[in-house]
Amino acid sequence: MDKKYIATPIRTKEILQKYEFTFKKSLGQNFLIDVNVLKNIIGHAGIGQTSGTIEIGPGIGALTEQLAIHSDKVVAFEIDGRLLPILQDTLSEYDNIRIVHEDILKADVLQVINENFKRDQSINIVANLPYYITTPILMKLLRERLPVESITVMIQKEVADRMAARPNTKSYGSLTIAIQYYTEAKVVMNVPKTVFMPQPNVDSSILKLVSRSEAPVHVEDEDYFFTIVQACFAQRRKTLRNNLSSHFKGILDKDTINHTLESIGIDGTRRGESLDMKEFSVLANAFYKIQRN
Ligand code: SAM
Repeated sequence: MDKKYIATPIRTKEILQKYEFTFKKSLGQNFLIDVNVLKNIIGHAGIGQTSGTIEIGPGIGALTEQLAIHSDKVVAFEIDGRLLPILQDTLSEYDNIRIVHEDILKADVLQVINENFKRDQSINIVANLPYYITTPILMKLLRERLPVESITVMIQKEVADRMAARPNTKSYGSLTIAIQYYTEAKVVMNVPKTVFMPQPNVDSSILKLVSRSEAPVHVEDEDYFFTIVQACFAQRRKTLRNNLSSHFKGILDKDTINHTLESIGIDGTRRGESLDMKEFSVLANAFYKIQRN
């Protein structure tokens, strides 16, 4: 039964041969050839027969096909023009798929949503992302505050671990805060290299991000907040005091930095990795007020 699906080694090879398709490593082309993994992604993605789905990078359509079967409509962004005629062929039996030939980083996703989905339709993003631009893609989608319920993506395991990390762990860092400011993040499954063609060099995980209805902490200025968080992790082994001194060099003196930390009850000898999001927000807001005055 599953044999007819695109995501099998046999069908994938047939399609690649038919079109003499050669993988572009520079576009992160590692296609999924395991229907069970796809079913797992679908199962976690929270999609239903009435929901809309956005995919990034359909490749030859392995995941797109499953999304078309399990949701109302799929809109997929693909940068590689060579894949368009292939997708037209492999997905010809589905009438609920629209392929947009565009670089997702340049696309006006909100406009595409407004043009393609019904008002109030629940929308989820689901993708096996090109690993070379995982973080820029996710940050773009989150910062634009698109009206999507969740983002479920296959990404490099090490990056997924960083995005879903907890304080005081090796993976916890500025990327964790950036992602968890917008979403609740969870690694739902680790995936072996063998489910891809060609096999990537790194291990993979499925990460699920559920959009927050409101920010988890109050920040005076988001850009300022993220800049301070980055500064606190600039050198992981260094204390907060030292990282902040380097960041504010020539702008704020050490006494001001120490007093500010004291005034908010955060010990300057701690390291960035020990602060939770709430503490980072208090810290960033305190320095923001000082710099503004
Ligand atoms: N979804 C397919 C699958 O699971 O078999 C292919 C996934 S493959 C990891 C990543 C896909 O993203 C490729 O088709 C690649 O051409 C496409 N891609 C790479 N960069 C992109 C970009 N900036 N915008 C849109 N698609 C991109």
